[in-house]
Amino acid sequence: MPMSTAQETPSTEEDTEPEELESIDVFWLPGEGCDGCSVATLGATDPGIEDLLRGQVPHLPQVNLHHHELAVESGKAYVDGMRDAMAGERDPYVVVVEGSVPNERLIDGDGYWISMGKDENGEPVKMVDWLDRLAPGAAAVIAIGTCATWGGVPAAQGNLTDAMGTMDYLGRDYRSQLDLPVINVPGCAPVGDNFIETVAHLLLHIGGFGPPLELDELGRPKWLFGETVHRNCNRGAYYEEGSFAEEYGSEKCLVSKGCWGPTVKCNMPSRRNLDGVGGCMNVGGKCIGCTMPGFPDKFTPFFEKAPGAMISTTSSKILGGIMSRLRRNSMKKLDTSTRWDESGGITERLYQWKLKRGANYDPDRGLERRPGAGDD
Ligand code: SF4
Repeated sequence: MPMSTAQETPSTEEDTEPEELESIDVFWLPGEGCDGCSVATLGATDPGIEDLLRGQVPHLPQVNLHHHELAVESGKAYVDGMRDAMAGERDPYVVVVEGSVPNERLIDGDGYWISMGKDENGEPVKMVDWLDRLAPGAAAVIAIGTCATWGGVPAAQGNLTDAMGTMDYLGRDYRSQLDLPVINVPGCAPVGDNFIETVAHLLLHIGGFGPPLELDELGRPKWLFGETVHRNCNRGAYYEEGSFAEEYGSEKCLVSKGCWGPTVKCNMPSRRNLDGVGGCMNVGGKCIGCTMPGFPDKFTPFFEKAPGAMISTTSSKILGGIMSRLRRNSMKKLDTSTRWDESGGITERLYQWKLKRGANYDPDRGLERRPGAGDD
């Protein structure tokens, strides 16, 4: 299906400026989840979702969001937008999946795990049917949160519904109209600004004003998930000096409490949770790996040390112990001004000042009070 965006080749010199796309539909499909991703999205500020809905961000089209909880419409009026998109009348459009995708084929006969709206015969339409029909024509499919990206909590041990991530459901080879795989923004819940920033970047690209998104091999935006938690953690220097927390509430490194930060890809410590506030380690919590495909099974029990932590902490304690002793010596030297080094410290200056006021100063014996001075 061709994209009717400004990306078509301009025919004349005067047409070189891309024609702005005025609005775009975003269809939000709810899977198996807790709606925490929706809440995180509402908390984003950089830009806020309201700015996108009002079309207030320069060069971004106004977003027509079709969200099952935020929409004013309901029933037929709500699902008509998706039907129009399937008929090619809403080009271009974006699909967002929140929550994991259940395997409806497990159900023998009638019944379903998740549905939204009804068909012409009054029968519930399964969420996976909407996804099957909307994904091929979408400019992009974005999975928000760890359930939608990798399966998350619904796909944990037991997994009654054979829950899976959107990429697993649509297949490794799925490509959108913009030739993109499923774009994955993981996190349980994700940082709202990570999601909105990804959407904004995508919309700039759809509108012809920005480059394509740089994604890693798992469809994660590289600039958001290219580094480990540990590399941006404000406790990293404690780790390096071999100084580990013995109890919660300590400002020291939490690897001793089971932090997975050294191997988890997430920007939480630097981006923080909401509007620059919070973030796991910043508020005393350790990383439990919630952005990773192996979450939660590969990270449980959460309160035990990660495998390998013993080796890394022991070597860090030995090397870090030597380093921190050397640093303490350097710090002692650097904590005095050159003036103090020459005069012997701050109190020398005090003697000089008192001397001027008439105190009897003998460098060998120190300060002697002038008889009568300060007796009051
Ligand atoms: Fe690394 Fe975790 Fe320690 Fe932070 S608390 S320095 S992420 S191990």
